[in-house]
Amino acid sequence: MRFRIVSSKKGKVCSLPCEACYQPHISKIVTSILQGKPVSFVLPAFPGKSPNPSKVLGTLPDMAERYSLVFLNDLCKSIEKIYPPGAHILICSDGRVFSDIIGMKDADITAYQREIDAIITRLDLTNLSTFNLDQLYTGQDFDCMRQELLDVFGQPIALLKEKVRRGANEYASREDREANRMYSGITKFLFEDALFPGQLKSRNEIQKDAKVRAYGVIQRSNAWSNLIAGQFPEHVRLSIHPQTCGDLKLGIRLSAESRITPWHGVALDIGGAITLVKRHEAEKLAAQLINDENGRPDYYKL
Ligand SMILES: [Zn+2]
Repeated sequence: MRFRIVSSKKGKVCSLPCEACYQPHISKIVTSILQGKPVSFVLPAFPGKSPNPSKVLGTLPDMAERYSLVFLNDLCKSIEKIYPPGAHILICSDGRVFSDIIGMKDADITAYQREIDAIITRLDLTNLSTFNLDQLYTGQDFDCMRQELLDVFGQPIALLKEKVRRGANEYASREDREANRMYSGITKFLFEDALFPGQLKSRNEIQKDAKVRAYGVIQRSNAWSNLIAGQFPEHVRLSIHPQTCGDLKLGIRLSAESRITPWHGVALDIGGAITLVKRHEAEKLAAQLINDENGRPDYYKL
């Protein structure tokens, strides 16, 4: 709960302890404890780097991802101090699920996923593991995988649009409000990602385009959520997005210092302390770009 992120939009943030916030998760945690098993969490995250070069250093994971993965693993280790069987986070990389809508190449997603697994092994992050769409379907036809996901777990876009519209009303159901919040969040990300140097479209066109694509992303993302809920019913569901009081998901930070996700930013080392910022912000500070042992840009140092 120390690292949870709550949505402060339209209203007050509850203070802890809060029964409503614990309620959706506590029975899963108690079940694990009664069985003497690690508490398991599931987190859809680490899709692949943003296609906007003014935010990130490239297509592969770098120091930003390593920093976040270590943060998550440390979080599990700190639970171990209170409860010896500890905790485990299953990272469900969702890049393959909506890469074609976001403008990411499938080859880049594959390379990104592989490198995340390599980091987990290399840094001995034993409290983390990964799951992705590729593990469920055989073959290399990613469009078929996505279509199959939608066929089994998807909802029509018209239904989503209706929910988002209803969710703008503060008296709407939790589900509709959540749909509306997700829509604004994803539209903002898509808009930002399209504001790269050399973009020829006007801001107005980009905004229009982002709104259309956001529905596609939500449709895929919801289908992925449904699949995960079915595959891992005993896992506590984490989310990288802020949640409101009593939500079925628990919003969580991916670093102690920053609200930026590693795939939308770069790591900045300020006198030994790491924080995540957007690439153009690090460049504005005239921070020095540091390469890794393979000569690949890795992080900025101030
Ligand atoms: Zn609450």
